[in-house]
Amino acid sequence: MKLSLYQYQLQFKFPFRIAHGVRSHTDVVYVKLEHENFIGWGEATLPPYLPETQKSVSEFLLEFSKNISSNAVEDWFEKLNPVQTNLSAKAALDMALWNLKAQIENKTIGELLVVGDNTNNGFYFPMGTYTIGVSSFDEMKLKIEEGNKYGFEIFKIKLDGEKDEEQIRNFKKLSDKKFAVDVNQGWKTVEEAIGKIVWLKEEGCFLVEQPLDKNALDEMKLLKQKSVLPLYADESCQRLSDIENLKDSFDGINIKLMKCGGITEANQMILKARELKMKILIGCMSESSVGCTAAAHLTPLADYADLDGSYLISNDPFSGMKIKEGRIQLNQLVQSHAMTLL
Ligand code: MG
Repeated sequence: MKLSLYQYQLQFKFPFRIAHGVRSHTDVVYVKLEHENFIGWGEATLPPYLPETQKSVSEFLLEFSKNISSNAVEDWFEKLNPVQTNLSAKAALDMALWNLKAQIENKTIGELLVVGDNTNNGFYFPMGTYTIGVSSFDEMKLKIEEGNKYGFEIFKIKLDGEKDEEQIRNFKKLSDKKFAVDVNQGWKTVEEAIGKIVWLKEEGCFLVEQPLDKNALDEMKLLKQKSVLPLYADESCQRLSDIENLKDSFDGINIKLMKCGGITEANQMILKARELKMKILIGCMSESSVGCTAAAHLTPLADYADLDGSYLISNDPFSGMKIKEGRIQLNQLVQSHAMTLL
């Protein structure tokens, strides 16, 4: 098994503005695992609000791989699964291992995981959302045109608690498509949230993500009892161990490979959420086609997929999953740009 690491910087097509601030690019580390004639790819995307960096990811993975002499994918998983730190690095290696295992066994990742009771032919992929950060009218117009151009049928509008009405008013002037909102903890009180949710439902919103502070679970319980729209946890839901505590505060969870450390735990999270009768959204950070394609394999069991990462960047070094007629479509990963070896 040969491990190689590459550094890259993903450039946003539009500056990305949410409740936390604005940025133009995201650092990434790509993991390439070569075994016999197969190549598995993984991605660690490293937004600045998370602690991991290109340096920490490469140090962790080089150290990790030094201690494994086996070429068997299962031996790598056995060593990787108990890791509880460096979750972006772990996610990158985990998805590369799944990518490799699927090729070796000539199956898709979904088939290997037996996602629900589906077979690959019967897989039903959910609708994908296209994200619109907090934008001026003109910026929003361009973004909606982009989303429409790539076949998205639903949008996810970021709200910051300050310009909410302007965001929704502008969106409604420009599109009559369905939309979700992601508040990124931007609302301050249950009362504010209740009022805004009633208004958002009237405007055509179908889902509200992370309305209050990630730790405000008691307030969220009150909100859930009164909310006329389903509430999904994102910042409040990082890993498998979080889900049980969220069941009375949220209707659903947003699962991201970068938060939970990869496909292995994300699959366990799906099963747990289903057991608790919670809804599932499979999301991504600002990832390229490598991360989004890995996550796309899990989406037949999700209610929605927010896997627009590759559509928001101008220099994706790969192609993979796409949106077709609004739904997730799986494709093989193909590398299209050179990257710098770390
Ligand atoms: Mg979110």
